[in-house]
Amino acid sequence: MDKENILNLFLKTNALLEGHFLLTSGKHSNQYFQCAKVLQYPGYAELLSKIIADYFSTFHIDTVIAPAIGGIVVGQEVARQLDKKSIFAERVNGKLTLRRGFEITAGEKVLVCEDVVTTGGSVFEVIEVVKNSGGNVVGVGMIVDRSNGKVDFGVPQISTLQMEVVTYEPSECPLCKKGIPAIKPGSRGLSL
Ligand code: ZN
Repeated sequence: MDKENILNLFLKTNALLEGHFLLTSGKHSNQYFQCAKVLQYPGYAELLSKIIADYFSTFHIDTVIAPAIGGIVVGQEVARQLDKKSIFAERVNGKLTLRRGFEITAGEKVLVCEDVVTTGGSVFEVIEVVKNSGGNVVGVGMIVDRSNGKVDFGVPQISTLQMEVVTYEPSECPLCKKGIPAIKPGSRGLSL
């Protein structure tokens, strides 16, 4: 799939909305993004995850790990395509932790998967979980890199889509200046 086809998947599932949005941070943006909207369709999750699975197909990987919750769908699907084990780390008292009997053994080769990366915080944290268990992180696969390629995990990494996040202070928002009403995403009647 080329970039235009990938972008169309996000647009047609309303994962990516274009307009004038009031974000929870209080800033305004011309885009609103919710990755779960595209991944709710297993066929699309399969298509997007295939880009990650294909990229890492020649790597030696034992296990795929994802940070809960957003990454789980991606990790599971990439692991299914690579026919590897799939586990996830979840927050306990705010800290990503292996639970449910999930284990990483010394020398285990691990691929980290995530749905959306902005600053990469959760992925960096999962990388630490893997390292602290004695495992080796061999790569990172993301559905969307919202840092537009700026986040560097220090291992081979791939995203199916890179995006620049553009936000404005309300006082400097060009869409406000045009008199376009700002919409709070998720509110009723939101359809573009
Ligand atoms: Zn605005």
